[in-house]
Amino acid sequence: MKQSLLFAPTLREVPKDAEVLSHKILLKGGYIKQIAAGIYTYLPLGYRVIKKIENIIREELDRIGCSELLMPALNPKDLWVESGRWDEYGKEMMRLKDRHEREFCLGPTHEEVITSIVREHVTSYKKLPLALYQIQTKYRDEFRPRFGLMRGREFIMKDLYTFHATEEDLDEWYLKVRGAYIRILDRLDLKYRIVSADSGNIGGKSSEEFMVLCDIGEDTIVFSDESDFASNIELCNLPEGTPSPDGKGKIKHAKGIEAGHIFKLGTRYSIPMKAMFLDKDQQQKPIIMGCYGIGVSRLLMAILEQHYNNEIANWPKEVTPFDIHILPLSNEGTEGYDIALDLYKKLSEKYEVLFDNRSERPGVKFNDADLIGINHRIVVGRKASEGIVEYKNLSSNETVEIDIKQILNMDFE
Ligand code: ATP
Ligand code: MG
Repeated sequence: MKQSLLFAPTLREVPKDAEVLSHKILLKGGYIKQIAAGIYTYLPLGYRVIKKIENIIREELDRIGCSELLMPALNPKDLWVESGRWDEYGKEMMRLKDRHEREFCLGPTHEEVITSIVREHVTSYKKLPLALYQIQTKYRDEFRPRFGLMRGREFIMKDLYTFHATEEDLDEWYLKVRGAYIRILDRLDLKYRIVSADSGNIGGKSSEEFMVLCDIGEDTIVFSDESDFASNIELCNLPEGTPSPDGKGKIKHAKGIEAGHIFKLGTRYSIPMKAMFLDKDQQQKPIIMGCYGIGVSRLLMAILEQHYNNEIANWPKEVTPFDIHILPLSNEGTEGYDIALDLYKKLSEKYEVLFDNRSERPGVKFNDADLIGINHRIVVGRKASEGIVEYKNLSSNETVEIDIKQILNMDFE
């Protein structure tokens, strides 16, 4: 893509309210723009990353047999009264009225809507199991929106709901989804721990959280230094240094960002909302459910908290907004520019390339390139007429002169 057409308003000065590094990087690089407290626009660069995260999630969920749908953000009050959560949810729920004084909320999560759909059509064990998910905008009037996308009032979530005839089937699917989550976070190149957690106001029996390890995390993880034992401190408040409850190793503490949460809901929604099915034995039974969330927009920041270099983004390869950034140091109408343009066209056959075609001084181009942070940078400068360009790898911070022919055969993975 030609950079003149990319809207990436980079900033030299970071707004004062940006307290954490990932937030600063996103603002400085022109990835996101704040509209109000906890409400953001994902600018083209940020949205490219979001879409890549979403597609990894789609691939891994579709692989295990989930289907994507899209539910409305606007939810009628009666469904939430049926589940008992219209009152239970409290001030975090964004509520509104239409012109006829009918009440609605902007969905903070979608158990009610999905249960109301499934109960009408899934009336026999023959139609179970089912696994339905969406990637959608959620609304929560958080008491303290902060750290940019980390705790927004409007944010993107992937929410999956599964429906089962038996507890065993729920257990089996829970493990399948857990496996998909592991593959998703591995592809995002994140370091994380899976911890047992409190089910909060979603209800249900057991749940686990996927915690991305990072000092700015709001949650404290209690874990063993020798085994997979890990728990949210809210559930298991063991001091550091005590023996791990599983008998292996000692307890340590770490901070984590909750990237995902998986729950065995059981019949928390199907009983009050009367989502029943006829089982093999001709008995009417409530459908057994699971629900599984991932904070998509929160991940944009969680990834950066683990992937940066000198305060510049260092995106994992699967989610980088572009693979290569080409900077011609001379403007349109020069031999150097034409060489760069040719390189751009050829490399675009295999890679996503950002081409800085703007009529700007080299200093401006370098500065913006540093703020955006595309790992592979090709600078077409004075030696271009001799067939030589500069290649810089931002991860290793090394710059080398390379023959143009060689650049065309390089592996930019
Ligand atoms: P938290 O404890 O951080 O408030 P939660 O338990 O309320 O999270 P869930 O209801 O399980 O979150 O939502 C699923 C996922 O959505 C979370 O794991 C998290 O990644 C993300 N998420 C929740 N609240 C927000 C928010 N305000 N802004 C951005 N992402 C969020
Ligand atoms: Mg919350």
